[in-house]
Amino acid sequence: MSITRFVKPEGLPAFLAHLSKEARVLAPVVKPADKRSVIFEPWKEGKEFTLEKATVPAKAAVLPQCETLVSYRKVKDPANPQNVKLELDDTPQAETTVVFAARPCDARGYATLDRPYLQGPIADPYYKARREKLTVITLTCNSGCNTCFCHWVGGGPSSPEGSDILMTELKDGYILQGITPKGDALLEGSGLDDGADRFKEMEDVRKAAWGTLVKAPNLKDAPAKVAAKFTDVDFWTRETDRCLSCGACTYFCPTCYCFNITDEGEATSEKGGRRLRSWDNCMSSLFTREASGHNTRVEKALRMRNRVSHKFSTYPENWGTFSCNGCGRCISNCPVSLDIRQIVLDAINADKAAK
Ligand code: SF4
Ligand code: SF4
Repeated sequence: MSITRFVKPEGLPAFLAHLSKEARVLAPVVKPADKRSVIFEPWKEGKEFTLEKATVPAKAAVLPQCETLVSYRKVKDPANPQNVKLELDDTPQAETTVVFAARPCDARGYATLDRPYLQGPIADPYYKARREKLTVITLTCNSGCNTCFCHWVGGGPSSPEGSDILMTELKDGYILQGITPKGDALLEGSGLDDGADRFKEMEDVRKAAWGTLVKAPNLKDAPAKVAAKFTDVDFWTRETDRCLSCGACTYFCPTCYCFNITDEGEATSEKGGRRLRSWDNCMSSLFTREASGHNTRVEKALRMRNRVSHKFSTYPENWGTFSCNGCGRCISNCPVSLDIRQIVLDAINADKAAK
């Protein structure tokens, strides 16, 4: 049996304080703005936090919105100013980090990112450095919501994939279960009470959560069916009709990982400069604009085709699993309530609809 610990709600701040002695702790925090939201922020003692599902996943813990890949500057040899050297610094910026109270769909997001960033021919050193220093504590969901569909795409309210620790809410507190050796080690040194006698209760709560989910459609044929729609531009035009190309769906997604590279500063002077990597957004018309001005995806229908095909067809072709984890954020944050589930179902059922 894995390591389990139990903590009462009033013990959580002390647990976070213990974690924050050795690591940056990212916890969900309510931001009262025009539209109330919950985001992950560095936690320090005394700061309020919530256990609500975050509006924005903690993807930035491994893929910051903007990061410096390399900084550079020219340095003259004082004895011989004609002799100029280029100094480079490409050290990855990686901090020991604990993400606290992620949700299972978000934790699976890290597993989705790990494949292209770590398991391809070349591991991305920046991502790798941060991922190795990351511990994920995931709060299992006690019920689904109308935009969640984790169980359609291989996950579920207590899926352990991508998590080091699963935490489940019981009547009078939280049980924490180690999933990986990293999670076990954290719990062993936590000073929390043993939770082994609450294990059965935890299993019952998790089982009950599954019972709140509506029956999932079978997406086994989705990769082939979505691929079969690739050349049917009318299909994508219909499905994308009301899209505003705002890009919210990509920025809120725990599994979107496209980036852009830009250079800033002056490579030819002592001031130097830096090369930056920033999140990019495939729903933007600029995403595929080439230096010549040619653009392969001017129409929003082609951009939506790319986004949905990547998540439900090409990523599964390469990695054997969907790159959508069913978190539902692209649905709940879309200003026109466009629903990726419906697009996939329409592709699957297109043959039937044509008869
Ligand atoms: S969030 Fe909605 S409107 Fe905005 S780009 Fe995505 S699908 Fe289009
Ligand atoms: S595509 Fe939508 S539902 Fe799927 S992981 Fe991304 S934001 Fe969540």
